[in-house]
Amino acid sequence: MDERFHSFAAFLRRKFPGTRVRKIPIDAGFTCPNRDGTLGRDGCVFCDPFAAGPVATAGWTIERQVEVRLRRSPATSFIAYFQANCNTHAPQDELRRRYEAALGHPRVVGLAVATRPDALPAPALALLQEMSGRTWLSVELGLQSIHERSLAWLRRRHTYAQFVSAFAELRRRGIDVVVHLIVGIPGETRADMHATVAAMNDLRPAGVKFHLLHVLRGAELQARHERGELPLLARAEYVDIICGLLERLDPGIVVHRLAVDREAGLLIAPAWAQDKAAVLGDVDAEMRRRRSFQGRLARADAPRPAVDKRVPML
Ligand code: SF4
Repeated sequence: MDERFHSFAAFLRRKFPGTRVRKIPIDAGFTCPNRDGTLGRDGCVFCDPFAAGPVATAGWTIERQVEVRLRRSPATSFIAYFQANCNTHAPQDELRRRYEAALGHPRVVGLAVATRPDALPAPALALLQEMSGRTWLSVELGLQSIHERSLAWLRRRHTYAQFVSAFAELRRRGIDVVVHLIVGIPGETRADMHATVAAMNDLRPAGVKFHLLHVLRGAELQARHERGELPLLARAEYVDIICGLLERLDPGIVVHRLAVDREAGLLIAPAWAQDKAAVLGDVDAEMRRRRSFQGRLARADAPRPAVDKRVPML
């Protein structure tokens, strides 16, 4: 298909030619410093009780999660996505044991490790560097916005400067980074969101994930939504904003996500976000209507990263 942006699916086809690769979500049993009392106990305002991880397999051993997911999937190879909580928030031995539990399966060809910018101490960085020499690895770093007032609103309890420092440490070790961003944070203008994308163009991560601000069952945002205090984007508004962000995003940065992808029953609002295929179809149609593509409005002089292992755009 003639894609208007550099999708993760296209990236996988180029990275693993002839192999059908899928990402499988893993809850490896970690905690999060924003929930276990290290930084706070209430977490980010958008975080659900499963800490963004899989619901059906939460609490299972890693080996069993991998086994069951693989049995249910038609793909031939898999990237184990350590998704729930903060997957570098433990001593190095423990991190190694849990990563190895997934990598031990012969059909697991890579790791994606989700974490916070302030949870990457030297032993974790050293282990990730070692792992990236052995397998395909990306670290998924939650940022959400470059704007401090937005980080405070989201109750992230880290700064943009901490993110930049963690990002630089990972890149210095040759580790690919995928940055998570939230679209529709109350108080953010389109110019604010464009500034976040411009900052990504300067940093040049391997990938980004765009998340619509949405309400999940059990997250603090649920109460705000029920009190009528939470402005949420309409579908047409979201599609229009996303297309503007794609047009400004460096074409070499892989887009890992554009639409909400959460288990049925957890998503409360906006209801339209439940239909992921329709949202993706609308984004595609709008990009075609504009005769546009990823990076059409991006700066041409964005700096190159020191280490560049990315696959070129199709
Ligand atoms: S979103 Fe991530 S950083 Fe925030 S509380 Fe949940 S697991 Fe922790």
